[in-house]
Amino acid sequence: MSKPVIGLSSSYNYDSGSMNLNSEYYKAIIKAGGIPVVIPPVEEMELLDELIEKFDGILLTGGPDLDARRFGEQNMPFNGSISPERDNAEIYLAKRAVEYNKPILGICRGVQVINVALGGTLYQDIASQVTERKVMKHSQEAPRWYPVHDIHIKNDTRALKWFGKSVSEVNSFHHQAVKDLAPGFKVAAYADDGIIEAIECDDLDFAAGVQWHPEHMWRQRPEILNMFTDFVECCRRPGIH
Ligand code: MN
Repeated sequence: MSKPVIGLSSSYNYDSGSMNLNSEYYKAIIKAGGIPVVIPPVEEMELLDELIEKFDGILLTGGPDLDARRFGEQNMPFNGSISPERDNAEIYLAKRAVEYNKPILGICRGVQVINVALGGTLYQDIASQVTERKVMKHSQEAPRWYPVHDIHIKNDTRALKWFGKSVSEVNSFHHQAVKDLAPGFKVAAYADDGIIEAIECDDLDFAAGVQWHPEHMWRQRPEILNMFTDFVECCRRPGIH
């Protein structure tokens, strides 16, 4: 059986005029049994329509902040850099993937894109906007593979299958997070401070996002690869999961 082809979103570097993707994303897809192909942040929506038909699944990768106007807010001083090309391309890809029930996985920015594309909102900055309770450090200053905070994983989730236990630990490189869930999605994992760390949708073959960076962890923590293999298997056999 041929391997599923996974489209990976990429970033755009405005200084050099180049598109970029950290190699750990495509190496994880290869390790999990998929064929990675990088999608440029093209502006032509009709091209994205044709592209998505050619892929067996979509992986939305990490990157800069979304334009807050994408979820009905103005950009506050603590919102970071914005990439309009990525916002356009990835929000469109997420909407189409859900519409066509094409497996989609979001990592870090990717989970935020999925949530916003389907009607949810974000904290523009956790530390500035979550003031009613103490929040943890989600922008780690430790090696990228090193898990710095615990997550609590809910029952009846893919995340529980990936980890095999209800409490685990992950790395953390985000100052934003899912605030209001998109309709149809549920919280799959959260941190001790209540920050949402993973979301899933039960109505689709595979639509999930995680706030951590598993692509930097699987070499040291083999169980972390389960997320990628689950995703690639769903891309291989759509409609039976
Ligand atoms: Mn975190």
